[in-house]
Amino acid sequence: MREKDIQYLDKEQLYELQLSRFKRTIERLFTSSPFYSKLWKKSGISPDKIKSLQDIRRFPFTSREDLRRNFPFGLLTLPLEKVVRVHTSTGTTGKPKAIFFSKRDINEAARLIARSMKMTGAKRGDVFQNMMSYGLFTGGLIFHYGAERLGVLVIPAGAGNTERQIELMQDFKTTIVHITPSYALYLADVLEERGVDPKNDLDLRIFYLGAEPYSEETRDKIEKIYGVDAFNSYGLSEMNGPGVAFECKRKDGMHVWEDNFILEIIDPLTGENLPDGEEGELVLSTINREAMPIIRYRTGDITYVYPEKCRCGRTHRRISRIKGRVDDMFIIRGVNVFPSEVERIIMNFPEVARNYQIILERESSLEVMRVKVEIKKRFFDGSIEHLRSLQERIKNKIKSELMVTPKVELIEPGTLPRTTGKSRRVIDNRKL
Ligand code: ADP
Ligand code: ZN
Repeated sequence: MREKDIQYLDKEQLYELQLSRFKRTIERLFTSSPFYSKLWKKSGISPDKIKSLQDIRRFPFTSREDLRRNFPFGLLTLPLEKVVRVHTSTGTTGKPKAIFFSKRDINEAARLIARSMKMTGAKRGDVFQNMMSYGLFTGGLIFHYGAERLGVLVIPAGAGNTERQIELMQDFKTTIVHITPSYALYLADVLEERGVDPKNDLDLRIFYLGAEPYSEETRDKIEKIYGVDAFNSYGLSEMNGPGVAFECKRKDGMHVWEDNFILEIIDPLTGENLPDGEEGELVLSTINREAMPIIRYRTGDITYVYPEKCRCGRTHRRISRIKGRVDDMFIIRGVNVFPSEVERIIMNFPEVARNYQIILERESSLEVMRVKVEIKKRFFDGSIEHLRSLQERIKNKIKSELMVTPKVELIEPGTLPRTTGKSRRVIDNRKL
């Protein structure tokens, strides 16, 4: 089937494709995966009982813990002779997770990246600078292969070394960049310091932003600074890395490539499936992978499915911007807060520069949420009354929207630690 046709399959055809790929995956796993066959036999499941996609709900979830416990080879279903690559994801604690790819798996992952890039307007003749870290992290190599497959000129810059990034953008007239939103903001600071106007002195036109949660306001900011179209890109190593879900030109939710993944939203507490439109934890199953298929993987990412079809005409359903991971959420004085909600609020203030941090503390026995916000230099050096009122307005806005009264600290731009990869937004010092 042609790439274009896959994206516009009608609902029934997409369903049939998913069902047949799902069945095939399950049958294979039954014979080639000791991990899954044991697990499923215990739950009384057998492949011939699959009649519809709904039947996926009878399968147990696969957790991050399952991957760790079976590290490194436990979920691999092919002999090593057929495996050509491994990526790992460190997460925060303990052993990493290892994800294996056959040659076909790499090709299929690249196909999804090429499809996503093309959807946003990338084409031959573009110069693509990949500022995601290369190596074990998927954001480098997986995206790289997809970009080559599409046929753009790839600069495998990797993350960091900002001076060199700037030089590369200037020398090769880079038009497309793949970068984390926090590094994009940091890079903008450095460009400004060097007197380079990203909008007029460079040739940039498209940014792919992913690997960490960020707000619509941050996207707007990045688009304005660089004069580009910035598209949200979602993925995780366990599901190939990038290329799981991607925004089209409408920039209104990310299309999950449903010919490769089955998408479910569950209540993270009960594990019950939720209908489209309701927010919950994203659960994904691979249905087009050879070396290491994963069924019902709990991503930990909070999102919802758009009930309506996208106006671009593609049938693959869309998910909303990721609110955060289930475990990013913190509870302060009994209120559940996602860092991304704080970000959305503060980034709406024009005085706010590019960086912020949330610090949770205990003062005597009371929990305190301290929000450090970098303020643009001209406002920071401006009138003290203005700063006081700004501080008050930020505090009140957070209080009225999130029901927590924060302590707001306005600080000079460039004070907080900068990152070239994923940022750490919350520091919890509340331990007793
Ligand atoms: P690690 O698990 O070590 O952080 P991964 O690259 O596998 O490494 O990280 C994948 C995670 O990154 C996702 O589960 C999600 O939480 C986050 N992520 C990736 N892309 C986005 C995005 N566009 N928006 C929000 N979060 C994202
Ligand atoms: Zn669309």
